[in-house]
Amino acid sequence: MQPQRNDSPWQNNSPFWQRFIRRNIPLLIYLFLAFAGMLAVYWYFNPSGGDAEVIASVVSGTQLSAPLVKNVPAKPVEQRLAQSTGPRRIGIIAGHKGFDSGAVCADGLTEASINAALAEKLAVNLQSNGIRTEILDEFDARLTGYSAAALISIHADSCEPINELATGFKISGSSFTDSSKLSICMENAYGTATQLPYHANTITADMANYHAFREISPGTPAIIIEVGFMYLDRKRLTIESDPVVIGLVNGVTCFLEQS
Ligand SMILES: [Zn+2]
Repeated sequence: MQPQRNDSPWQNNSPFWQRFIRRNIPLLIYLFLAFAGMLAVYWYFNPSGGDAEVIASVVSGTQLSAPLVKNVPAKPVEQRLAQSTGPRRIGIIAGHKGFDSGAVCADGLTEASINAALAEKLAVNLQSNGIRTEILDEFDARLTGYSAAALISIHADSCEPINELATGFKISGSSFTDSSKLSICMENAYGTATQLPYHANTITADMANYHAFREISPGTPAIIIEVGFMYLDRKRLTIESDPVVIGLVNGVTCFLEQS
């Protein structure tokens, strides 16, 4: 005979799902709590519909959602033409550097030394104004196809005691690239700073047909300036050269401001 169990009689006779629940009460409570927790987290962090609409209208104006495709107006492709401005860098040729001494005075003062000192002072001044500069030799290998915002070649006139008119400066611009802006800026700034007269009538074929004009990139404006005569203007070109340097710096900055 089978021993009689003391459990309540309905336990064995109740339907399967009731027995299942009774057996798994801890598990079911755990699942319920987990679900309620997740629901609470979802409600807490989910922005209300109102918020989403406000954000969308702020972001995209009147629309409720931001457009996926932006309408960008057609823009012409800008091509760098030969005449367009080069990088903002100034090339300075220290006349005769690396080649010969240029004009020489009776006491041995050379044009090359005057040109080199002025080129150096001009470069230092421009660089302190944040303008990249580089000093080039008269026949520098870099001149072939040279590209810059401007190229300035510094020379000085003869040291012969010609006459009392042998004082002043002159400028010749490249005919390969429009260099008139650079020429005009330099002529005005240099004349104002130094009070030297402008010698338009003594510009030589050598200046107009200057070799560097033919070598550099066609987009680079270029001038050659004869800063003064080594005989009568000697002091201004050597021991009292501040106005000369200021004139050169102002000529370059005037040109850069206009281009
Ligand atoms: Zn020279």
